[in-house]
Amino acid sequence: MNCESCSPKTYLSWFEKICSIPHESRNEQALSNFLVEFARERHLAVSQDEKGNILIRKPGTRGMEQAPTVILQGHMDMVCVKDEGLDFDFAQDPLRLVIDGDSLHADGTSLGADNGIALAYILALLDSSDIPHPPLEAVVTVDEEVGMGGATAFDASQLSASLFINMDSEDEGVFCVSCAGGRRSRMHIPAETEDAAPLAASGKGHFYLITVTGLAGGHSGLEIIRERGNSNKLLARVLDDLTRKFPCRIVSLNGGTAANAIPKESSAVVLSSAEEQELRAELDSWTEIFRHELRGADGAGLVITLADADAADKVLTERCAANVIDAALLIPTGIASMDMNITSQRLVESSNNFAMIRMEKGEIVFHCQTRSSVASKKEALCRQIDVLASMIGATVEHSGDYPAWEYNPNSRLQPLFESTYRDLFHKDARVEGIHAGLECGLFAEKFRKLGRNVDFLSFGPTVSGAHTTRECLSLSSAENTWKLLIEVLRRIGKTA
Ligand SMILES: [Zn+2]
Repeated sequence: MNCESCSPKTYLSWFEKICSIPHESRNEQALSNFLVEFARERHLAVSQDEKGNILIRKPGTRGMEQAPTVILQGHMDMVCVKDEGLDFDFAQDPLRLVIDGDSLHADGTSLGADNGIALAYILALLDSSDIPHPPLEAVVTVDEEVGMGGATAFDASQLSASLFINMDSEDEGVFCVSCAGGRRSRMHIPAETEDAAPLAASGKGHFYLITVTGLAGGHSGLEIIRERGNSNKLLARVLDDLTRKFPCRIVSLNGGTAANAIPKESSAVVLSSAEEQELRAELDSWTEIFRHELRGADGAGLVITLADADAADKVLTERCAANVIDAALLIPTGIASMDMNITSQRLVESSNNFAMIRMEKGEIVFHCQTRSSVASKKEALCRQIDVLASMIGATVEHSGDYPAWEYNPNSRLQPLFESTYRDLFHKDARVEGIHAGLECGLFAEKFRKLGRNVDFLSFGPTVSGAHTTRECLSLSSAENTWKLLIEVLRRIGKTA
């Protein structure tokens, strides 16, 4: 680490440069063009595809020309958020960087260290003449934060390397070695209705709004391991009970906010001739049951409320209501399997988030987000949803499929990173998988289809609060990550 370019000053000044060029997702053309210019000025081979993805090649340094080629990959786009009322235009204004002790952040906005720091390391390496490294293929994608459209479109057949280092992880000292694939499903249950008026009149019927609320929710991939309550599922259990015990008909249902969020509030409007006190007592007993079940998770705040609702003209037929409740009871929810390969952490292998219930245009629609780090297990979970639908005369539409990056027990990069980390910092790094998508999954799938055996690892410095105005980069972890990167490259270079 005695070379001039090895100093943190080099990648930090490139980071500053990146922060002066607009690069919001779907608006990366200026940064993409800058990278083309950067490469041409240094006589490095560069290609830019129509999406704006960039590939820059740099030969190995002296004595390392014949070493294995390494792909260094990150995404150039950032999530742009700013404090309310701040006069700031991401399409023009440079980010205002602030250093506060060990932390680098941007004044009033997100920082884009996710994933600008990866690009800064790449530029520092490509620009250097005194850092020893093997041949490099730098891959910088667009639109990672909005569905990974850049990586999806990238032509991987241009790449020759069989070692792939992604730098979009956000915990120094943690090496990521697998990610989940995913798919969304929408189950459409036809809504059969009948006139509510005779029921309302004959049995002193009353319209009520029942709401399951007070849960914590969270990211449907990263937080599914917390076993938090799923308000859609809990509501289904309450309605199953009420419709069996009392004269109780369902008018409408609604739950959840987004496919990738665990639902924390769900509600139903019902028409019932039961005494209000009876219903209230029943809901209170379910509140107790659910709080008990969720006592190690988010049960403490859970409440089930009963309120008056506006009268409605129609209710679901008993048959349709039974179908909806049965499907909601049976649909896979939460953790489906745990990973038994990566033993250094508790890692969810497969899950299904029963994310939303909506009533729209003559249908009740269930939205699900399925994830698994094993492709066939994702298929199996989606098949369960299909079979369930066919049993009740419903249909399923799948979308947003993306592939997993499966754990490779024979990885060469993993032991190299582990031993290098230990040698440099005299402590052990952690090896983990992630129950969410990374661009590595898309690249892994491309190489698999090309019949190429490519070894992956993802790492990066500590970035906290990504996608918020509190985003900050730990400068000391950025320095450690940089040291690790150049030492790993040096060691690969010596295996020529
Ligand atoms: Zn990222």
